[in-house]
Amino acid sequence: MDNWRGWDKISYQSDLDPRFAEEIASIPGGDKLFACIQCGTCSGMCPLSSYMDVTPRQIIAMIRAGFKGDVLSSYTTWLCASCYTCSVECPKQIKITDIMYAAKRLAIREGVYPKKFPIPVLASEFFSAVEKNGRSSEGRLIMKFVMKTNPLNMFKQAGLGLKLFRTGRFSIKRESVERVGELNSMMKFLEMEHMIKKASDAVGVKEDHK
Ligand code: SF4
Ligand code: SF4
Repeated sequence: MDNWRGWDKISYQSDLDPRFAEEIASIPGGDKLFACIQCGTCSGMCPLSSYMDVTPRQIIAMIRAGFKGDVLSSYTTWLCASCYTCSVECPKQIKITDIMYAAKRLAIREGVYPKKFPIPVLASEFFSAVEKNGRSSEGRLIMKFVMKTNPLNMFKQAGLGLKLFRTGRFSIKRESVERVGELNSMMKFLEMEHMIKKASDAVGVKEDHK
């Protein structure tokens, strides 16, 4: 991948977000993040680390140091195949895969994921369809995905798309669940509950330090 940024840029203290580590550590079991001994087992065992711009070990170190922007815009979390090898092999039982998911969610929420990289675009379009309709319609999802990542592919795949359409295997119909509003209320409630838990955990952390 020629357009990968590489890590030869200079970072400054002002680039750091001191709350980033706590934000990621707020996922269940995430507090173990601080127990990392930087042994590199996760990077060594990861089947995809040679394709990543930052290794899993580096991701953990950068989160702890507060390099929020660099972590959220890296390709690593999007290349992670969720195989859980790193989590199983970590001598400190750190949930690295879950940490990758937490970083992905945050990157989508803050809109700072690598924009032209297909995986975050697909994830973002999927979540937005589920939020609007309660489910994603495959045909529409694929069309939006191709338009936002590589529109020329639309013409290249037009013949195949037409064949699939004719045989009823590809539909552009918008599918929706009943009572989408109720589903959205449930999702908002869960999000609010998570935020309240995070806030009360943060208060707990401060009290522990007194
Ligand atoms: S295997 Fe665990 S302890 Fe070792 S670097 Fe990775 S996260 Fe840290
Ligand atoms: S879960 Fe992700 S980061 Fe961990 S070993 Fe598998 S691909 Fe690598």
